[in-house]
Amino acid sequence: MPARLIPPELWQGLPFGHPEALLDFLGTHNDWHRALATAFSGVPDRRFDDLVGNLDPHNEHHQVLAKAMSLSAPDDFSRYDLSQRQGWVLFQQIHALEHVRLRQQQIALGG
Ligand SMILES: [Zn+2]
Repeated sequence: MPARLIPPELWQGLPFGHPEALLDFLGTHNDWHRALATAFSGVPDRRFDDLVGNLDPHNEHHQVLAKAMSLSAPDDFSRYDLSQRQGWVLFQQIHALEHVRLRQQQIALGG
């Protein structure tokens, strides 16, 4: 249940180039995607352990989630270069807000 997971707003402050922070983020982020996929039919359960090197599957998952939750399409999360500080910071800010939007919609839908 997403309400018991770490608030995604916290991802906005994830430091760039910190291996342990990245591993923690990848784990909690996968937990969020799994919880949302489980709650909405037609959404595959995916892991994104290779997120930094391959943003496309994660971007597609956000597109599917938004559609399944009757939301407008999210930002294109595949356009950020997470190996660069600026790309990392922008991605973490915008992506965290998208997860907040998903959490709010899930609550609104009774999830
Ligand atoms: Zn995500």
